[in-house]
Amino acid sequence: MGEGVLTPAFARLDGALACEGVPLETIAAAVDTPAYVYSAGAIRDQYAALDQCLAPVRHRIHYSVKANANLAILRLLRFLGAGVDIVSGGELHRALAAGFRGPDIVFSGVGKTGDELREALEAGVLLINAESTGELELLDRVAAGMGVVAPVALRLNPEVSVDTPHHYTRTGERGSKFGIPMHEAGDAAKLVSGLTHLKLIGLDMHIGSQIASVEPYQMGLLRLLELLEHLRRSGARHIRWLDLGGGLSVSYGGERAMDLENFAAAVLPSVAASGLSLIVEPGRFLVGNAGVLLSRVLYRKRSGGRDYAIVDAGMNDLLRPSHYNAFHQVEAVRPRGGLAVIDVVGPVCESGDFFAIEREVDDPQAGDLVVIRSAGAYGYVMSSNYNARPRAAEVLVDGDRFAVVTLRESYGDLTRLEPADPTWRTV
Ligand SMILES: *Cc1c(COP(=O)(O)O)cnc(C)c1O
Repeated sequence: MGEGVLTPAFARLDGALACEGVPLETIAAAVDTPAYVYSAGAIRDQYAALDQCLAPVRHRIHYSVKANANLAILRLLRFLGAGVDIVSGGELHRALAAGFRGPDIVFSGVGKTGDELREALEAGVLLINAESTGELELLDRVAAGMGVVAPVALRLNPEVSVDTPHHYTRTGERGSKFGIPMHEAGDAAKLVSGLTHLKLIGLDMHIGSQIASVEPYQMGLLRLLELLEHLRRSGARHIRWLDLGGGLSVSYGGERAMDLENFAAAVLPSVAASGLSLIVEPGRFLVGNAGVLLSRVLYRKRSGGRDYAIVDAGMNDLLRPSHYNAFHQVEAVRPRGGLAVIDVVGPVCESGDFFAIEREVDDPQAGDLVVIRSAGAYGYVMSSNYNARPRAAEVLVDGDRFAVVTLRESYGDLTRLEPADPTWRTV
């Protein structure tokens, strides 16, 4: 569609788009549409690039499961040496199912329940990134009940302003619901040292998502290191982890991806000087451009001077355009040659169900396959059954092989949890 190819993992093979060595037409014929298609090679490449850039310091890459929680992708990342960052008991379940062990797991999240904290302690997680004094008190009680000491990092809100494409993805600004406000950090650390079933072993921040500039990381890191000095002076001896969170950006089209060399130059020297081990929690950076949503054009239609392509994927499959007003490239799998200015929309009964608005793209006809690019992160995981639409299949490609790694839902799946004859209870 004349917008340039972003990811070499998806390139043209004999005039039609392929994922690595597998034509997308082959995948559509085998598993139908809509389907998410991921490149294992693209994930390996991103992981290797990040790992190499962090090599000068002791570090661990804890993949943020919420970006794409598919078990095959989790296993792939585990083989590469990644740990995971989870934000719920369900993600803990997925991580364990994919073979991660407790020490590979960092538990983040602003609203962990007592049950989730207990499950994390049972699994023996590396760190629980606590976000409030209430959480610290609850964690201490849960750990006491189990007769264990919980490994704690304080997730601080470093109160830096970040420039992300949408304000929903800023999490480290003053007044955000995330993290412990910086001016309360000293008191939170004091609270931890007074609670006998907690051990403070890390400092943590996560300032947002799709961040292309290094300054907010640098500024946040500076604040964490000032706090570290303060805590060390007042006797904290066990802090060994410095978790800078995720948020590294990828390019969806025009914008900049995070430059890893700049990132390394901005943060590694002070990390090294602190003597702490670095943790990063990238999600989107590892998988965002490793996936596309493969869809088929159902109809072309004109209405009120607008030209529509109605495709078989909808906002229930990929929510980002509707939820974040996010840009995704749209491109024909086998372009016919012409371009047209069209709206690419889904079948869902909402005007917000769109993928591209008045965009110059390949001029597809009914029956043609299209891809919505950069759909590897926050795609399938945010999908729903809205309009009683079964969720799409997920396919992983590795070289010239592909496998269905999530089956397409059936109509039966849609009603599976609803008893035909519910049991009524009387009060
Ligand atoms: C979402 C999240 C991440 C990952 O964010 P990306 O922008 O996908 O890198 C990392 N850490 C925490 C705590 C998160 O909530």
